[in-house]
Amino acid sequence: MTETRRQTAFAGLDRPQAWPATRGRPRPERLGFALDTLDGVGVTLKRRLAKLGLETIGDLLEHAPRRYESAAEEVSIAALHGDEEVVIVGEVLNVVKRPMRGRRTLVTARITDGTATVGATWFNQPWIADQLRPGMRIRVRGKNGRYGFDVKSYDLHEVRATADFAPVYPAAEEIPAKTVRRVAAAALPHVVDYFDPLPAELRESEALPLKRDALAVLHRPQSEDEAERGRRRLAFDELLLLQVTIASRAAERARTLAPSLGEPGDLMARYRKALPFALTPYQEQAIREIDEDLGLTTPMHRLLQGDVGSGKTVVALYALLRAVEHGRQGALMAPTMTLAEQHFLTIADICLELGVTCTLLTGASKRAMLGADVVVGTHALIQEGVELRDLAVAVVDEQHRFGVAQRQAFVGAHGEMGVSGSRAKPANLLSGAASGATGVAHRQAFVGAHGEMGVSGSRAKPANLFSGAASGATGVAQRKALTEVRGPHELHMTATPIPRTLALTVYGDLAVSTIEKPPASRKPVVTTHITEERVPEAYTRLTRLLREGRQAYVVCPLIEQSETNAARAAEAEAERLQRAELRDFRVACLHGRLRPDERRKVMARFKAGEIDVLVATTVIEVGVDVANATVMIVQEADRFGLAQLHQLRGRVGRGAEQSFCVLVSRAKDELTESARQRLDALVETNDGFVLAEKDLDIRNTGQLLGVRQSGASDLRFADFKRDRSLLERARAIARRSPAPLVAQD
Ligand code: ADP
Ligand code: MG
Repeated sequence: MTETRRQTAFAGLDRPQAWPATRGRPRPERLGFALDTLDGVGVTLKRRLAKLGLETIGDLLEHAPRRYESAAEEVSIAALHGDEEVVIVGEVLNVVKRPMRGRRTLVTARITDGTATVGATWFNQPWIADQLRPGMRIRVRGKNGRYGFDVKSYDLHEVRATADFAPVYPAAEEIPAKTVRRVAAAALPHVVDYFDPLPAELRESEALPLKRDALAVLHRPQSEDEAERGRRRLAFDELLLLQVTIASRAAERARTLAPSLGEPGDLMARYRKALPFALTPYQEQAIREIDEDLGLTTPMHRLLQGDVGSGKTVVALYALLRAVEHGRQGALMAPTMTLAEQHFLTIADICLELGVTCTLLTGASKRAMLGADVVVGTHALIQEGVELRDLAVAVVDEQHRFGVAQRQAFVGAHGEMGVSGSRAKPANLLSGAASGATGVAHRQAFVGAHGEMGVSGSRAKPANLFSGAASGATGVAQRKALTEVRGPHELHMTATPIPRTLALTVYGDLAVSTIEKPPASRKPVVTTHITEERVPEAYTRLTRLLREGRQAYVVCPLIEQSETNAARAAEAEAERLQRAELRDFRVACLHGRLRPDERRKVMARFKAGEIDVLVATTVIEVGVDVANATVMIVQEADRFGLAQLHQLRGRVGRGAEQSFCVLVSRAKDELTESARQRLDALVETNDGFVLAEKDLDIRNTGQLLGVRQSGASDLRFADFKRDRSLLERARAIARRSPAPLVAQD
């Protein structure tokens, strides 16, 4: 209704674009068109949009506004008073640009609407002066200010920026907000090119709008409520897809046959004896649960969660050896090669001692060594369908879930799967730092890839999300009819637990074992947060500890562009420290660009005490296990995510000595709210479960949007906290009948 009024008020100029004339068939292929097919998008803008993960018309339409402007009343200039935000419409009489103190500029345009005139003002936007000419009609939104009418937004043509409930998109430095708004508006007519993936009945029973209408009101709502109804519809689609996928995979698994591994025997007894410590009650409990699963002929599907250093690896190796005991194979998979190597180093010795062959599967060593009892490799091991001799237990390390390396690994796998199109470059590591949503997306990608392993057949690439999931199930049924489906037992490890209720809905039917407490021998790490000007004190303290024979890590800032840049920065920092603060000590550098054998050598020397300080990128995040390393300094810690910092910190505090972690950040008043919360949380507690909850809270208030922006998340509209009831609905529907949910538009 306000909309109508505004349109008439502005009708003299350019009529606002009506809904597209083209009725008829949706043409979904258009959603894949590049953005420069839209009016007003050239190469530069296209490139900048691509940095936000926006490459196609569909990307843009699915780019949700962060919030909406409020409604503002349109008033005549004569009636202008008070300091409410209002809209005025008039004709430009003249434009003056003048400098102000401190290299600032003020542009003033005198505007009249026949009732009176007013000077509309813009600060520090000198280019505005070039856009305005006497005689132009303009619509401005703002309020009375010190120098005149202080303009917040304005429109020269269509009513867009000044509209009530105008969308405000997630900010991007290189692109002015109004440009994103303009381009989104240009793409809007294409909402008709969406097929509705929900069957009409379901849409009706759930009282949901059409997808195209939901998208339309998302970008151009008449009220906040309307926008929210649109968002909920889109969120529902995402959650339903997630749940349908989970349900159909669960159904598939129920039909899959796994080797029963009976009761633990002699090898397991020898393993327990070979360990230099007694297992904790939590580890014992997890092992009991695993043993129970392994005795069955349906595949185990269990999540082993426990904080960094809680002793998951010991339990995981137990599961692997259970396969070996039966003459079969175990596979241990990590998200990156570095992590796989680290796992390999951890378990190789004890395997040797037990007479179990163990091999690290690198690109080069493939095939030749597939016969080993325990094979360690990356997730590619399953994605590429490497044929193992007789895989019975697969352990999948997801503990790096929120880390950079894995996000990249995930994006790679994800693109291949085509679950939702390959959209993502992890643009913003900062924000990606910690996202439950990312976890889910990863989870989906993994489950997808994993399905391949489970049934060792190739899965159809779903074009339509819903029918895709359903046809996956049909495919299995068909294959099942032809041959018996066999699959290994699976154990997933994660160090970043998600709250229990979420685990159920997000991980579906995954059973969960939890190692609640680390071995008693571990002391909590004393964590402090300092700002940069106090770094010298930190190094003074560090050198004192080094003289006492301790070792340390210095973690370099996150570098977003590439691993090569990160490596260079780490090397430069190592050299600098060697010359300056740490000149009396042996400094070495560890980063992802080192060859595996070089990296191994550095780690071995550090472990042997031949290196005092390891300057590293986040490659040390997981797996490095040196008890004598008791100090960690993290530079620019405010740029890391909470989970990632917690992982990093887990590298110290592994021995009997008290350990310290120093988080260095920029000045406190320069920190974002969420960065401050993250650092405070780490100082406060060492408990990964508490931190995981905190993380969810902080992200919900701050960073989740950044994650969406980075495109690394599949959940663009849904929000696990806000949409809990929607999630439950989706889950119920998916469990009732995953198959009939085929789009029929
Ligand atoms: P996670 O994989 O959960 O991060 P790890 O399995 O790597 O933890 O264990 C961390 C450290 O604790 C390792 O040095 C490991 O040898 C040691 N550890 C594991 N279980 C025990 C235990 N029951 N008692 C003492 N130390 C243990
Ligand atoms: Mg570990």
